Amino acid sequence: MAPDTRHPDKLDRAVIFLGPPGAGKGTQAKELAARYGVPHLSTGDMLREHVSKGTPLGIKAKPIMERGELVPDSLVLQMIRERIERPDCTHGFVFDGFPRTVAQAKYLGELLKQHGYKRPFVIHLAIDTSVLLPRLTGRRTCKVGGEIYNIHDRPPKVAGICDADGGELVQRPDDREEVIGPRLHAYEKQTAPLAAYYSSRGLLHVIDASKSIDEVRQQVLQSVKNVRGAR
Ligand SMILES: [Zn+2]
Repeated sequence: MAPDTRHPDKLDRAVIFLGPPGAGKGTQAKELAARYGVPHLSTGDMLREHVSKGTPLGIKAKPIMERGELVPDSLVLQMIRERIERPDCTHGFVFDGFPRTVAQAKYLGELLKQHGYKRPFVIHLAIDTSVLLPRLTGRRTCKVGGEIYNIHDRPPKVAGICDADGGELVQRPDDREEVIGPRLHAYEKQTAPLAAYYSSRGLLHVIDASKSIDEVRQQVLQSVKNVRGAR
């Protein structure tokens, strides 16, 4: 029996995922967090929670989000600080969707230092646009239950019909190539400086995200294990 399938030690650091939409960032971040028994911190989920609970932060963020605008750094950073000061974060946490800019990364670095965490570990899920495009444009969503399929690598049993509830499968407007192309381009433009920032500090670990979810998961776990052994 493998002795270390559960989290025998603590993570004791922040793990940050970088990667374009469709690279599997959310899935990998969630699974890593579950594996080590630490919180998975998605800025999108956190903001929605503040809004639904009507916290002071949520009240400020709500009209901005309703206008479809980006919530300003000041609010996001305040939210992050408050979140990582909660007791469940003592043994580390996994970010999903944060930081997005070098300025946010610098602020986070200071924050982690102040709170006595080890240096963050940054995983870049790198994937070529030619691999990513079919993944994204092939996505079909069930109109009834919201199940997600992919005509290339996770097709339904009957084309256009949901296996679970027989609902119609549709391509969301966000998944059309004319929407995805510019989104990927914007992502690359935003992430390149962030990846360079972490790389220059020796914190960036690049993983080939064109592999299967299982293979990527193994690589993520191995890389985290290595860094924990090394420092
Ligand atoms: Zn369905």
